[in-house]
Amino acid sequence: MTDLNALLESQRSAFLQQPNRSVADRRDDLKKIERLMLDQQAWVDAISADFGQRSPIETRLLELSLVLRGTRDMRRKVARWMKPECVPTPLLAQPGRSYVRRDPKGVVGIVSPWNYPVQLALLPLATALAAGNRAIIKPSELTPNTNDLMTRLLAQVFPADQVSVVQGGPDLAEAFCALPFDHLFYTGSTRVGRSVAAAAGQNLVPVTLELGGKSPAIVSATYPVADAAHSIAWGRFLNAGQTCVAVDTAIAIGSPERARALGQAVAQKVQTFYPDFANNPDYSTVIAGQHYARLESMVDEARAAGVEVLQPEHNSDDVRQSRKFPPTIVINPPEHLRLMREEIFGPVLPVIAKPDIQSSVDYVNAHDRPLALYVFSDHSSEIEHVLDHTHSGGVTINGAMLHLANDHLPFGGNGPSGQGAYHGKYGFDELTHPRAVFRSGRWHSTRLVAPPYGKRAEQITGMAFKL
Ligand code: NAD
Repeated sequence: MTDLNALLESQRSAFLQQPNRSVADRRDDLKKIERLMLDQQAWVDAISADFGQRSPIETRLLELSLVLRGTRDMRRKVARWMKPECVPTPLLAQPGRSYVRRDPKGVVGIVSPWNYPVQLALLPLATALAAGNRAIIKPSELTPNTNDLMTRLLAQVFPADQVSVVQGGPDLAEAFCALPFDHLFYTGSTRVGRSVAAAAGQNLVPVTLELGGKSPAIVSATYPVADAAHSIAWGRFLNAGQTCVAVDTAIAIGSPERARALGQAVAQKVQTFYPDFANNPDYSTVIAGQHYARLESMVDEARAAGVEVLQPEHNSDDVRQSRKFPPTIVINPPEHLRLMREEIFGPVLPVIAKPDIQSSVDYVNAHDRPLALYVFSDHSSEIEHVLDHTHSGGVTINGAMLHLANDHLPFGGNGPSGQGAYHGKYGFDELTHPRAVFRSGRWHSTRLVAPPYGKRAEQITGMAFKL
């Protein structure tokens, strides 16, 4: 097993020797990551080997191009972000100059999940490097082929005391999160996120937690069902539903009949997106047998409760063998079912009805704050009402997932769906320390307010309370 302490120590001593990498060095680092993304076929093959099957388009679009574009954007802007920010100095502190430096934190630990194994390891890495840090990545044990490729390619372009990858399962992950990093960047489930936060707390290591949860989509009573169905089908069944911001539950405003109509419209869309899903190269497999079994048991529970389940025709044994889980719509399930209480993280969509916008808002607020919230409406008043009365990590209106693809927007959760944010400048700020600097003149105000306090100190203190 890798000697994690020794690796951390070697990165830390390299950091101390070069505590603030120059703009040119950081740009070089970022360019190296951009170049790695151009080896498209190798990544596509490795991810497909890990999944069983993953659409090459989805790998190129949602992994490689997101890393490439996000990294290029950071490379172009990092010089500007690194500049100290001058801020005003109050009269009582004059004469002097105040500014904020953006100092690198040091060594960042990055723990990544399996569902987008390149994007969720390399975008945090690029962010850490733009911020002048060094980093050690611990990827998910469920993607060994991608991890091997990533380890090999990164080792070709970065020294181990700047960027390293360590591979292993939960035991290694636990030991990793107990290390005294200068920052820990964790992406994964809310359940594991709690123990990661606790482990980091022991060392007072600051953490970014990019977690999961159930992201709902609210479809207004007057919004065209077919339009909502397109986005919901896209946002649920992409990567076979294994996306943190996937639409987890659709809420139709209106009667249970409207929920059924929405569910049927989504099922029709899915049929046009993925005809013959079992043999369709655009439809991804579920990553592992235990996740397949988990999804099966959720749908079986719904069936046993007499709930209507829509699935294309299939042979259960064949698709279980290939882990191609049938795209599934569950109509009006009751709240006590597991698929209504747990993050689904697979190609299963419950569709429920709420009589009006306020009751959909109440529904959202009765659950954990989601990572993403979707609102389909043509009425600004309705959209603003939902935004004003709910909380979530991010929001897309009249679409699904698209807020994630804009580097000018922060990406992160809220409460149980995470803390901290990244993408673009938000990531740079997250992984640097805003260091306050006040440069005083030789003469300064403590000369006037110094013990023994007299009348002058009394007058100056009084000035601070004048409105
Ligand atoms: P996971 O939490 O099981 O694993 C994530 C990582 O944590 C893996 O590298 C794993 O080895 C490690 N890990 C496991 N046990 C650990 C422990 N005790 N201590 C420290 N680390 C440990 O998550 P997963 O199944 O790989 O990914 C799916 C989850 O991730 C979903 O909940 C999804 O919503 C969430 N997710 C969130 C985002 C986001 O950006 N917010 C992105 C992708 C996935």
